[in-house]
Amino acid sequence: MGDIIQLLPDHVANQIAAGEVVQRPASVVKELLENSIDAGANTIKLIVKEAGKTLIQVIDNGKGMSATDARLSFERHATSKIRSAEDLFSLSTKGFRGEALASIAAIAHVELKTKQDQDELGTLIVIEGSEIKNQEVTVTPTGTSLSIKHLFFNIPARRNFLKSNNVELRHIVDEFHRVALAHPDIEFLMYHNGSESFNLSKSNYRQRVVNIFGNKTNEKLVPVEEETEVLKISGFVGKPEFAKRTRTEQFFFVNNRYIKSPYLNHSINSAFEGLMKDGSHPSYFLNLTVDPKSIDINIHPTKTEIKFDDEHTLYAILRSAVKHSLGQFNIAPVLDFDRDRNLDTPYTFENKRASTPTVEVDRSFNPFQEEKKPIRFNSVSSSYRKEPAAQWESLYVGLESKGTKNDTDFSEVQFESQPESTSLFDDDKSIETKQTTYQLHNKYIISTIKSGMMILDQHRAHQRVLYEGLLKHLTVKESVSQQLLFPLLLEFSSSEMDILQNLKEDLEHTGFVFSSFKENTIEITGVPINVPESEVSIILEQLISDVEQEVPDSNFSATDLLAKSMSKSLAIKTGQSLSPLEQEHLVNSLFACKEPTVSPTDKVTFITMSVDDFDKKFI
Ligand code: ADP
Ligand code: MG
Repeated sequence: MGDIIQLLPDHVANQIAAGEVVQRPASVVKELLENSIDAGANTIKLIVKEAGKTLIQVIDNGKGMSATDARLSFERHATSKIRSAEDLFSLSTKGFRGEALASIAAIAHVELKTKQDQDELGTLIVIEGSEIKNQEVTVTPTGTSLSIKHLFFNIPARRNFLKSNNVELRHIVDEFHRVALAHPDIEFLMYHNGSESFNLSKSNYRQRVVNIFGNKTNEKLVPVEEETEVLKISGFVGKPEFAKRTRTEQFFFVNNRYIKSPYLNHSINSAFEGLMKDGSHPSYFLNLTVDPKSIDINIHPTKTEIKFDDEHTLYAILRSAVKHSLGQFNIAPVLDFDRDRNLDTPYTFENKRASTPTVEVDRSFNPFQEEKKPIRFNSVSSSYRKEPAAQWESLYVGLESKGTKNDTDFSEVQFESQPESTSLFDDDKSIETKQTTYQLHNKYIISTIKSGMMILDQHRAHQRVLYEGLLKHLTVKESVSQQLLFPLLLEFSSSEMDILQNLKEDLEHTGFVFSSFKENTIEITGVPINVPESEVSIILEQLISDVEQEVPDSNFSATDLLAKSMSKSLAIKTGQSLSPLEQEHLVNSLFACKEPTVSPTDKVTFITMSVDDFDKKFI
């Protein structure tokens, strides 16, 4: 048989790549606005017709492009913003992949007009489906104008996938808000079908928020300012009495980039605890500044996700800062910044008359189970008992499975035998064992193995453990749920409800019990065992944002996504300190997994270092 592999022609490759970058008109809007900001524009105009289905045009007064650059800008991986992979870690621009224009040009009719300040004349380029139709010299002001017409003209399936104009316009406006909020020092204008929708002149942050969300917003904003070594926070939260029933006024920006973070959102909610009516959501417009090296911006262009090195600390600082502001502005009692949280009286008690004391029932308590469960350890597989023999056996389960991603021969990971200890100083948690694991920086767990040592990433390892447990529940369709004492009511927007509706059945297989599921509210009466009630809303929000970001037709498997998403939400975080028992339990559970070497998102879960490796370092 002859050779059969062929390189895809560029326009085909571009069309495929475009599917990832451009999901809907709003994606184009985001890319173009960000390019204009990167080009240093201080006035940016967005013109949209029929919710972007027929026209999206962005005009800026930025630095423009030379004729050569104008042509190059449509090539894939053509970017002026990074030169090497190193630069990724000190990114100050929005774009960096050099993919947006190439992708957009592959699936639309594009007209570019651009001129640099020093040039007399500018460049006009017309491209349709990656094909250059025209390039000529033209008269145009300094800056760049890009018009995108007939989006998805050559991908009917995509075109049909678009929602109604109302929905698509909503997405465009959302993107416009996000970009405009992140850059109050830039003037933004937006027109839809010929009429002006927004006219935001250059201003300070407060004015920008008010210009976007209306004059009434002004009185409800409470400033939040905090600066610590790891994090600077500035912006506003809304006074609790103005809280909305939807989550449309919740914005986090990290280093000027809009992000979604159910985890940080939770920290704000917890700062408002006791101040909010049920089912309402605090507004916030918060800019976080962190060392770019301490975050990992997901390289996927459409994702608004970000990974922080130490989420736990950020959570605590954010919560304190917001509480502090609410206190200062007489919305809540003032609190000391670094006071022990456990000492705080919940605000609810402020305005409430004393109520009958209630007894808390630990529903997971099983009098027939000898062993005390590790505290706050949300393992899905609760079958583990702390018996030394069983522990060691469990290490070898799944050892046959091949496919280790790091070049460790997995079968050589052998644990040091654990001598019985009769220490005088045993605490009640680890009576019979000597500690063989150590936690480093509340992030890694170090364990001794026969050949040397093993270092586990606690978050990734736990994700793997939870993921496999959840997948099992989802496929076997047998799950255990715990009944809630009171039903939990959660509110969602209608698009979020659509997503949840699609996943309802799968969620039920993990152990969720829904007693009602209508309009914008769901009522939950049971949750999967080991899922704390307080985490339910985080889990669902994370799930929604994961589904929103998943490219619709890329091997979309609801079950797998659900398991991935939930394991991400539930896994112990970096920054969380673990008791020796919890550490050991994690190590054991990981090695009872089918694929212990990688996390559900294919990241290495542990590495090993042999005594030989150490010896080499000690010469
Ligand atoms: P990226 O933004 O990732 O670099 P894009 O495909 O969005 O990739 O853009 C490619 C290049 O085109 C940019 O690096 C930039 O040099 C140039 N460019 C795009 N839009 C503009 C603009 N509005 N003004 C000036 N240059 C632009
Ligand atoms: Mg770009």
